[in-house]
Amino acid sequence: MSDNGRPRPGLLLWDPRYLAYDFGPEHPFQMNSRRLATDLLETIVGEAGWLRRDAEIPPAPRAELETFHRPEYIDRVEAISALGKQIPLDHGDTPSFPGCFEEAARVVEGSVRAVDFALRERGAAYHPAGGLHHAHPDAASGFCIFNDVAVGVARALADGRRVAYLDLDAHHGDGVMYGFYGSGRLLDIDVHQDGRTLFPGTGSVAETGAGDGAGLKVNVPVPPGAGDEVLTSLLPRLVPTLLRAFRPDLLVVQHGADGHAGDPLSGLRYTSVGFDAADRLLVALADELTDGRLVVTGGGGYRAAAVARVFARAGARTLGAAPPPLTAPLPDEWRADFARSLGTPSPSGWGDPIPPSGRPPWRDGEIDRLVAELGERLGLRFPPADTEPAPP
Ligand SMILES: [Zn+2]
Repeated sequence: MSDNGRPRPGLLLWDPRYLAYDFGPEHPFQMNSRRLATDLLETIVGEAGWLRRDAEIPPAPRAELETFHRPEYIDRVEAISALGKQIPLDHGDTPSFPGCFEEAARVVEGSVRAVDFALRERGAAYHPAGGLHHAHPDAASGFCIFNDVAVGVARALADGRRVAYLDLDAHHGDGVMYGFYGSGRLLDIDVHQDGRTLFPGTGSVAETGAGDGAGLKVNVPVPPGAGDEVLTSLLPRLVPTLLRAFRPDLLVVQHGADGHAGDPLSGLRYTSVGFDAADRLLVALADELTDGRLVVTGGGGYRAAAVARVFARAGARTLGAAPPPLTAPLPDEWRADFARSLGTPSPSGWGDPIPPSGRPPWRDGEIDRLVAELGERLGLRFPPADTEPAPP
């Protein structure tokens, strides 16, 4: 809420052409999950007077891409994009597709507009198609051709701002972190499944930045099997202290949903309860520290039922609307569309039908040791467990 108690301006970025960022029907990355999330989000925010929608998003101009990507790499993507066939863009699972240059640049433009809106209007912007955090200045990686969040961050830095970037994706946001490893105006906090057990393998506690950026890159690797304790307890111990020390002008969040229990590409076990707590925390921190300037993007997430619900709730909270209770049913019309477009039954309610079972993977005292090690490396004192006041 702004000072006068009314919601701050909000902007939802979704162009139906984002569906054309498409590696094919068998590929794990599916924009249709993001489309379903956006439709579900619109059932929550409805015709809210403070909300604006941007549904005509052109590809970012080349000069904008060059604020993060190397010209030779941009040339290569543009040339391959013009061919009528799929060619691997990296050594993994990121193939080209006809038109991939324009479609990847369109995702970038969404992040640029989100950042411009947040800075100019002191508002919050939600960009569920964004969050392609693995792309490097000169290479595609991990389903990411151009790094929209990195270009968005570069835009704010060029405007003279200090930016805090929080990455909740199950995978380490290597493209963003290494892209600004020496920057003294980007605080990068990345909570992810330990790189010794998951792509891309990076993001150890020892990687804390270099030069002006020393002490401003914060990696929080968690073991496979870690669950909501990461979002409800570890995050509130670390993030407020880090942000208050850094004093950002803008908070950018990569809100990947692939840490959700049951995601086929990660081993974490977050639930909607944990994501809700994280969402309340980041909105409260933006209100406290950046005068409400907040950009939230999507990111990874490979099970449509989880992506749609987690992204819709995150979007609602970002844009100033309370998401429905987790016990509430999902709208019938939306459920019918989910089943029709995916050929699988829709989830019936907002909550997770079966909470994940099994013991948390942490050894006795391991969370406290991780917090202590981060404090030592960064020269900060983090509060002990459960002393941080709960966000409103
Ligand atoms: Zn991921």
